[in-house]
Amino acid sequence: MSDLTHLTIAGALKGLENKDFTAKELTQAHITASEAAKDLNCYVTETYDLALAQAANSDERRAAGNAGALDGIPLAIKDLFCTKGVQTTACSHILEGFVPQYESTVTANLFADGVVMLGKANLDEFAMGSSNTTSYFGNCINPWKTSDGADRTPGGSSGGSASAVAARIAMGATGTDTGGSIRQPASFCGISGIKPTYGRCSRWGTVAFASSLDQAGCFARTVEDNALILRSMAGHDPKDSTSADRPVPDFLSALSGDVKGLKIGIPKEYRVDGMPKDIEALWEQGIEWLKDGGAEIVDVSLPHTKYALPTYYIIAPAEASSNLARYDGVRYGLRAAEHENLNEMYKKTRGEGFGDEIKRRIMIGTYVLSAGYYDAYYIKAQKVRRLISDDFTKAYEQCDVLLAPTAPSSAFVIGENEDDPVKMYLNDVFTVPASMAGLPAMSVPGGLDSQGLPLGLQIIGRAWDEETVFKVARSIERAANFTALPQTLIKKAA
Ligand code: GLN
Repeated sequence: MSDLTHLTIAGALKGLENKDFTAKELTQAHITASEAAKDLNCYVTETYDLALAQAANSDERRAAGNAGALDGIPLAIKDLFCTKGVQTTACSHILEGFVPQYESTVTANLFADGVVMLGKANLDEFAMGSSNTTSYFGNCINPWKTSDGADRTPGGSSGGSASAVAARIAMGATGTDTGGSIRQPASFCGISGIKPTYGRCSRWGTVAFASSLDQAGCFARTVEDNALILRSMAGHDPKDSTSADRPVPDFLSALSGDVKGLKIGIPKEYRVDGMPKDIEALWEQGIEWLKDGGAEIVDVSLPHTKYALPTYYIIAPAEASSNLARYDGVRYGLRAAEHENLNEMYKKTRGEGFGDEIKRRIMIGTYVLSAGYYDAYYIKAQKVRRLISDDFTKAYEQCDVLLAPTAPSSAFVIGENEDDPVKMYLNDVFTVPASMAGLPAMSVPGGLDSQGLPLGLQIIGRAWDEETVFKVARSIERAANFTALPQTLIKKAA
């Protein structure tokens, strides 16, 4: 039965419909695989009993002819989405023991379509990071390895989600992307992941990091499976005023992969110094694939790209410092055990509850928002953000989508970049600009580097045009024909 874990979601839906297997069998196969891959530390809370109960309900619905669009499909849910009755921690000590009384809109939408939840997936604390190393519950590990066997990061912040999908212990997963947290882990783990347009999914019930940037999205092993998951997650929600009141397109009809006549922009500022040769070569290869498919390649310029990273690392911490003010020991999770008075309780709870990276960002954020520095940093950063966004608007006068690498490296060894936060922040150099502009962007696996580790290509689209992003992604997926498996799976099969 274990080969059920190698099915795509689209394939599994057919199998369920044809009665080749039941949702319970499909779920059990993924639970068994999850148990065998425990050392990857993908889940911080396992919900296997709930999953089996959901799967049994799913089988009943299907038998009665009432199956939803994703009925019986087992997914991993990033532990940033509040799940009613199931502990939600954002992988922070400060939220340990917090059991939400409500369901996030994204998970509610997925459950309404019949999704089965296997567990809450590991992430960097409060989604701040690019390596999953800041998780209070320990690092998640990438199933991909090189010959030295060293444990590599799955990327971050949605590392648990990406690793679970790559390791075939979940068929797909939810993620969130504030500055690259879906795209970079997708690239590091050799799977596909999409961050839709800001406002496409509701943020209600998702633990907030930087509210003007946070956006939910998903991971899966194929572009089509991503389209299936996103279609269920997305949609207007009156409970989130930043969620857009627009119909959700039928993303599946955009999967022809026919790029004939499309104009693909290549941003010259993304040719950064010191880019590894393998990544440059893959980018060139991607251009060739699209040309072969009949697309036209145009060189475009995004002149303010070099300001995107410094601007992001002002705006995101500023918003985080404000959002995280609510964790004070009164309402959620942790409360310091010993304190003489209220102020000391606040101080001790926050001192004990937050990790170093969170404290660093709260301090940076508080600094850039403080009187005297607000205009010089925060307001200035907002103005630069507008210029970055205008760059994209101008570029889209010449092209339909942009093609770029997803990340400046493949998965690095856990612990690398750890003592230098700026080096870690540089990981986001290719993903942050689209986040600043709120644009949809997707990573698809393009190939392996010389060490045998996966590399992704990034497609950035116009606002609300996920359909063209999916179309181009499908075309690259077809050309790349990425079938390599992570070493941990190959070992198991041997
Ligand atoms: N790595 C980036 C950061 O640390 C992005 C994180 C994210 O998208 N959640 O902020």
